[in-house]
Amino acid sequence: MAEVGGSYSQYLTPELQKELHEIALKIVAPGKGILAADESTGTIGKRFASINLENNEDNRRKYRQLLFTTPNLNEHISGVILYEETFYQKADNGTRFVDVLRKQGVVPGIKLDLGVVELAGTINEGTTQGLDNLAKRAAEFKKGGADFAKWRCVLHIGSHVPSHVALLENANVLARYASICQQNGLVPIVEPEVLCDGDHTLERAQKVTEQTLAYVYKALADHHVYLEGTLLKPNMVTPGQSATKRNTPEEIGLATVTALRRGVPAAVPGIVFLSGGQSELEATKNLNAINQVDLVKPWKLTFSYGRALQASVIKAWGGKDANIDTAKKTLLHRAKANGEAQLGKYSGEENAAAAAESLFVENHSY
Ligand code: 13P
Repeated sequence: MAEVGGSYSQYLTPELQKELHEIALKIVAPGKGILAADESTGTIGKRFASINLENNEDNRRKYRQLLFTTPNLNEHISGVILYEETFYQKADNGTRFVDVLRKQGVVPGIKLDLGVVELAGTINEGTTQGLDNLAKRAAEFKKGGADFAKWRCVLHIGSHVPSHVALLENANVLARYASICQQNGLVPIVEPEVLCDGDHTLERAQKVTEQTLAYVYKALADHHVYLEGTLLKPNMVTPGQSATKRNTPEEIGLATVTALRRGVPAAVPGIVFLSGGQSELEATKNLNAINQVDLVKPWKLTFSYGRALQASVIKAWGGKDANIDTAKKTLLHRAKANGEAQLGKYSGEENAAAAAESLFVENHSY
């Protein structure tokens, strides 16, 4: 494509840029967010084990069908992230899940990374694999109906980590993935998750999140990624899971927005948080507090929750057909609460005991 001077060549057409920007804006529409339903086969197996349900392909299909056929899902859910198996599965009536979603105006997305592997020579740090054949896979998923993608990288907080090499390597792999996605018409969700494992303070989590974002946006700039056609999926800034001092949603909101203001360019249309082991209620309250912070926030701030949208749904379902309607209502209830939090208008809920349970999993894999 045309050279524009210096060492750079324009690799996205104006039409493709426009398409990517519009997809990103649709996903972060007011009052809406993402349902992350891209658990790998092993991870969904752990969720099913909690309700004594066998982890086989048809149970996984039935569960995802329950989620995607929830009436009025699109009121508060703008996009759904799918795992490869789910991407090609069909509802009972023979309609592909991708089309079930698209018909409701919900944007289908695909998890493209192939998981975390060890980064040799570091203190238990990792990087995320999946770049080989990525362009081909991205093109196939676009053709199959996906409009966005996700790639998760993980960073740890410890006395000597994250290291420079882990920060650099993970930022670079995210940038390569983002560039490949954009060339193939997929909006990349860039996910550098700073894990909450540990007993560190809120201040330390904020500093590490700021450093991580600095590495990530330097790499995206180096790789000429079109920021208006991306979304960021970060952790919220919280104290470590085992820290003795707990912080209020207001403190978490301020620390999170401060870190994001220091590290995320205003050209990025939206920031879609992961829930990262917070309880459903914490994830909703913290998102609400983030949106209430009285500072200029140039991006939409919403949710892309896995555990915090599904934990009480799985429990309500229990693997039984008779409970499907109740489970769907539970999903809608959580989506609505988070939709309100996205507007900074969440005012609490009654009978929320189940939603208050911790969903923390040590060194969580997806
Ligand atoms: P949690 O909300 O369960 O952290 O997962 C979201 C996700 O997609 C992690 O990659």
